[in-house]
Amino acid sequence: MTTTVKCPTCQRPVSWVPESRYKPFCCERCRLIDLGDWLDETHRISEPAGDEIGRDWLEQDTDEAERRH
Ligand SMILES: [Zn+2]
Repeated sequence: MTTTVKCPTCQRPVSWVPESRYKPFCCERCRLIDLGDWLDETHRISEPAGDEIGRDWLEQDTDEAERRH
């Protein structure tokens, strides 16, 4: 049984499996779009170094996905 979620950026269905590297997004582009929004809205005030935060977040997300599996 496969859980399917909607890509938060474009609303396309995404299978919640380890192979979906960008889940809950359907692709890297949608993920970066959403991440960009998040950094812009939430972290611009307290953390001006957006690039480093972005990389950390991407790595953490990968680890978490594997643990969940
Ligand atoms: Zn998408």
